[in-house]
Amino acid sequence: MTLISHFINGQPAHAEGARQADVFNPARGEPCARVVLAEPRDVDAAVAVAAAAFPAWAATPPLARARILFKYLQLCQQHTDEFAAMVTREHGKTFADAQGEVARGIEVVEFAVGIPQMLKGEFTDQIARGIDAWSMRQPLGVVAGITPFNFPVMVPMWMFPVAIACGNTFVLKPSERDPSPSLLHARLLKEAGLPDGVFNVVQGDKVAVDALLDHPDIQAISFVGSTPIAEYIYSRACANGKRVQALGGAKNHMVVMPDADMEMAVDALVGAAYGSAGERCMAISVAVAIGDAGDQLVAALAERTAKLKIDDGMAEGAEMGPVVTAAAKERIERLIGQGVEQGATLVVDGRGYRVDGCPNGFFVGGTLFDHVTPDMTIYQEEIFGPVLCVVRLPDVGRAVELINANEYGNGVAIFTRDGGVAREFVRQIEVGMVGVNVPLPVPMAFNSFGGWKRSLFGDHHAYGPEGVRFYTRHKAVMERWPNTASSGPQFAFPQMK
Ligand code: NAD
Repeated sequence: MTLISHFINGQPAHAEGARQADVFNPARGEPCARVVLAEPRDVDAAVAVAAAAFPAWAATPPLARARILFKYLQLCQQHTDEFAAMVTREHGKTFADAQGEVARGIEVVEFAVGIPQMLKGEFTDQIARGIDAWSMRQPLGVVAGITPFNFPVMVPMWMFPVAIACGNTFVLKPSERDPSPSLLHARLLKEAGLPDGVFNVVQGDKVAVDALLDHPDIQAISFVGSTPIAEYIYSRACANGKRVQALGGAKNHMVVMPDADMEMAVDALVGAAYGSAGERCMAISVAVAIGDAGDQLVAALAERTAKLKIDDGMAEGAEMGPVVTAAAKERIERLIGQGVEQGATLVVDGRGYRVDGCPNGFFVGGTLFDHVTPDMTIYQEEIFGPVLCVVRLPDVGRAVELINANEYGNGVAIFTRDGGVAREFVRQIEVGMVGVNVPLPVPMAFNSFGGWKRSLFGDHHAYGPEGVRFYTRHKAVMERWPNTASSGPQFAFPQMK
């Protein structure tokens, strides 16, 4: 069975007798590879080579860095299907969905190759007689990324292309559930001409993460994952003096007004709730039906949910694959049970779902609840599975109150034909990414991605201009080149004269 190793200083590496874990194919419900799990000494080795590679890489002109990323971009395009097949094998999502993930990751590289433009500073001529002021942005040093299982290609690409383009060196700790794409990234970056040591991968679990959080030579940590871990990462890395952006979990609502195009809203909800088996941080897990919208919406959703084509993600025509682990399946099915116990109406029950030819796969069928209320566990917890909860409310004002009271603030959408209602909703809602008749408002690579409240700890959103700010430090310079004899020292605080 394949053993997935670290990638340090331009080559695969692992110690003899290292701890290991199984990597599962969730559609088959059986291991498809093994992954090594780092000890602190492996993290030390990766950070040491990244630190050694930093001075030369930081001194490489931004355009030369960008040209390497251009080659990597072409290689990613050529290897899209290889990446996507790895994602489907280890994560479970459908092949078409995995191809979409790779495409969204590639967009960040397309942004990062424009880095010379992004790193331009400001210049002010003559801030005082004979003195000019200017600014520049400089890389931080060694930075690390810790990423979740649900986008094993794209989420690392939210981080390292921007970090590397800015002149940093990088250590990636991918999810141990689907670690293979990290090594393909490493191989393609090397093939594109990236110097050894600039991009390194350390496979592992909490042991590796804690070693990164405590390492004195790591300047910044980017994290994406669940909220409890994001909060932990933020507190511990901040306490160690690091710059941190830690993106957490979500409970995303979609408000459906009675005047919405109902067919469009139902299509949007089915895709956004059940795509990738609900394992997206931008998945819609709560539909808020306003007034008369409820009956129509639930009837249409029930029909569509029951007919979802659920299969091995490589199967032709599959709309939804399995969830990632047996533990995830068990947790999701337990939460569905709690929904029933707490009084929600279970319209479509996905528990115990079986797929022909995949008897051991971790499948959960599309599940639909109606009459969900905010006190129920299925409303409060991020289920991270194919479970859609419908909450019925009388008006949009109540919907805004409900959503603003939620601890998460990642994504939200409103479906309506009324521009005035939509505009007011956009202004009032306390959520970081808002869609108007768009169910998954994931910003493009040249904008930045991030939630509010307990969906993001830290000040900077991911990728785009915010990513450049996160991975660089601003330096302000004041410069004088006297062309007359000095008039002697000045002891009073300098002022413009
Ligand atoms: P997770 O928090 O379990 O794991 C994320 C990373 O943290 C992994 O690399 C893992 O190895 C590490 N980790 C796990 N437990 C740890 C611990 N106790 N101490 C230190 N490190 C630990 O998340 P996941 O299950 O892989 O991913 C799903 C979660 O990620 C969901 O909550 C989802 O909403 C969230 N997510 C958020 C975004 C976003 O942009 N806000 C994007 C994708 C996923």
